[in-house]
Amino acid sequence: MIEICEVGPRDGLQNECKVLPTNVKAELILRLIDSGIRNIEAVSFVNPKVVPQMADAEELIKLLPKDRNVRYGGLVLSRSGLDRALKTDIDFLHVVTTTSDSFNQRNAKRTVHQAVEELSKVIKEGAEANKGVAGVLGTAFGCPFEGEVPLSRVLSVAEKFIESGCTEITLADTTGMANPAQVHQVVSAFYEQFGKDFSLGLHFHNTRGLGLANTLAGYQAGVRRFDSSIAGLGGCPFAPKAVGNVCTEDMVNMFHGMKIETGTDLNKLLETAKWMETNMDRPLDGMLMKAGIA
Ligand code: ZN
Repeated sequence: MIEICEVGPRDGLQNECKVLPTNVKAELILRLIDSGIRNIEAVSFVNPKVVPQMADAEELIKLLPKDRNVRYGGLVLSRSGLDRALKTDIDFLHVVTTTSDSFNQRNAKRTVHQAVEELSKVIKEGAEANKGVAGVLGTAFGCPFEGEVPLSRVLSVAEKFIESGCTEITLADTTGMANPAQVHQVVSAFYEQFGKDFSLGLHFHNTRGLGLANTLAGYQAGVRRFDSSIAGLGGCPFAPKAVGNVCTEDMVNMFHGMKIETGTDLNKLLETAKWMETNMDRPLDGMLMKAGIA
């Protein structure tokens, strides 16, 4: 059995040019729940001026059903994000930093060290406020500006986040640079340092076509939690180099074909993907929605 963390409503829609109305986002999440998804990254508490797609976080959370045994996550990148998140009843904070100085300077105007110092306090306060806290480490498999990101740095940021109170870590391949051999190596090193029982998730983008290959490599290395995005949302053709996450229903099709359970209904996911396409004014990247279930 694997666990899917559906990130379409957040990572997917954030990287689409079209801004969806809040009620359509809420319907998307309801459809995902009806398809069996139980872990959803629903919102991001980022500056609405920088990311207008996510400006309605508080409003959207109010529309989500609370009685469906679903865990809702919200992205937090700073103290101001934490302050907003704590005023809502979001279940899990997904606290994010990248592990490359160049990338972090461009995106958050601070070094990795500075980010980790601030975010360690954010993690502690989130945990003290009884929120679940997951750490998400971006560019963990490479940085478009620096190239290789040393594994020792990735592991030391993970260590600091875990010490501060993260009960989960997700390693994210932000710009699609990972390959399967590397995934195996990084996951093995992570488990060696933090133990096989620590909850590790993987987040891949399909930027260079290796999303599912990397997912499978992670599975074979022992990982059981994967982020993905319905219909492969997130590849706005007008946003340079933005390519969507691993596509949820394509990933589910792979695992079901391998007789590995996902807790989801593939037909319903496919319907949701097709419905989503009608909302986006462009063909979406999912393969199964074009080819159908074999
Ligand atoms: Zn991502």
